[in-house]
Amino acid sequence: MINLLFPIAVMMGKIFGFDRRKIERSFVAVSNQIIHHQHIKVRPEELLVVTPHCLQLASCPHKITRDPMANCKRCGQCDIGALVTLAEEMGFHFFVVTGGTLARQTVKKIRPKAVLAIACERDLTSGIQDVYPLPAVGVMNIRPNGPCYNTHVDMQQVRSEIESMLIKEENENG
Ligand code: SF4
Repeated sequence: MINLLFPIAVMMGKIFGFDRRKIERSFVAVSNQIIHHQHIKVRPEELLVVTPHCLQLASCPHKITRDPMANCKRCGQCDIGALVTLAEEMGFHFFVVTGGTLARQTVKKIRPKAVLAIACERDLTSGIQDVYPLPAVGVMNIRPNGPCYNTHVDMQQVRSEIESMLIKEENENG
């Protein structure tokens, strides 16, 4: 329903002079709320976490788009290293994508049951609609250096969103 209403909201926004970014932010917030209320739980191997390339330090020489798990050296200079460590610890799939096409290809290849995407409001809005009916939670990136350059993400927010989406493993010792 919100996917259907979004273009109408954008059109109304244009007429009444609302900021498109604010409408997109609201779309992501409402979509997240709906997913939270559905209490979707998946196994780690059924969860795909995707992040845009701009989260990587611009001067980093390592090619992480194909295989961040193997190629990121976890030097701590950007949030990719922390995400790689979290993926290793929790067991979800983690990929860095350069755009919508690669994001769609990654979803097709991994065939997850749920997605957590880190991006700007514009890319989250289109990504969430693209992968529908797959549930996709959006986490907004932080842009202290302007758009698409050395961006960051709140790792605590990422961890807590992922924890809420994963089925808790039974403790082997009871
Ligand atoms: S954490 Fe990984 S991706 Fe980020 S700068 Fe270091 S090696 Fe590069």
